[in-house]
Amino acid sequence: MSDLDDFSARLRSLTDGRASAPRVRDGVMTLALDVGGLSPERRDAVAAAIREGALTVPGVTDVRIAMTAERQQAKKPPRVIAVASGKGGVGKSTLSANLAVALSRLGHRVGLVDADIYGPSQARLMGSEGEKPQARDKRLIPVAGALGIPMLSMAHLVEPGQALAWRGPMAGNALSQLIDADWGEAELLIVDMPPGTGDIQLSMIQKHKPAGAVIVSTPQDLALIDATRAVSLFEKGGVPIIGLVENMAGYACPHCGELSDPFGNGGAEATAKAADMAFLGRIPLAIDIRMQSDAGDPPAARDDAHGAAFRSVAEQVAAWLRSA
Ligand code: ADP
Repeated sequence: MSDLDDFSARLRSLTDGRASAPRVRDGVMTLALDVGGLSPERRDAVAAAIREGALTVPGVTDVRIAMTAERQQAKKPPRVIAVASGKGGVGKSTLSANLAVALSRLGHRVGLVDADIYGPSQARLMGSEGEKPQARDKRLIPVAGALGIPMLSMAHLVEPGQALAWRGPMAGNALSQLIDADWGEAELLIVDMPPGTGDIQLSMIQKHKPAGAVIVSTPQDLALIDATRAVSLFEKGGVPIIGLVENMAGYACPHCGELSDPFGNGGAEATAKAADMAFLGRIPLAIDIRMQSDAGDPPAARDDAHGAAFRSVAEQVAAWLRSA
């Protein structure tokens, strides 16, 4: 490693990634430093440390630092898409992860927030268990999940089970930390909402104003009634419903692939129609979906029939976003 490479590596940790690669010409080192969001004291201290370090590189006699303020330009925050269900266990987390993956494969810059306080599972679904987010300027920096999708989970903030005792405001603050994180280039944020239709959900909706909501339900009548409650929650908060996804719709036989319908067929589509909602499609109940999900290998990353089912939902969400 050359002395300059060695200094470049030190520079990255010294500036938290805010400096460009340094160049040296005729003994003069030049580099750009992004000072957006830094206090004047901090900015001067970082610049002084760079100078001091740079002058130890053999051959460098002068240092010029161009200060830029990229981060200060208010970047548009990503549009939030809430994925919700009236109750737990219907596959809301599975759909959120796979919607993020399918949208990313369609070319969207997506981030994923696991706001499911009571059972955060996105780290497992996206293969990022054990990763810990860093923080900069008091904002969390997401970790990378499957396909490099940036993500943050409630599990990154608290030990498993701890949040169960939280009251609304605490949960709301934690949720805001995740949504207001440094999402970089992401233009869309898929938020796996806490299940149910209580205060936490309502305050999240009021505070973060999702662009739209996707409702997940299973074919059973009970889950469909719960789904209707989730719909009214968003309507109360003035958030448009993108549509309803029917999950675990029909059983895909692992041997022959044949679909059977233990819970009947068409209930979710009829519910969507009756409520004047778009029907975004059905995802079959399939052992592969559960096994791949549990292994942190989202089925939407594949080109098989299950991948296609998630892709079709994502295409409709993307079309909705273009027209909204
Ligand atoms: P929720 O977020 O609504 O609580 P999850 O996404 O955690 O639900 O799903 C609950 C369980 O059902 C998980 O074990 C998941 O792997 C499984 N599951 C979800 N969707 C499917 C599906 N289409 N086929 C098979 N298993 C599924």
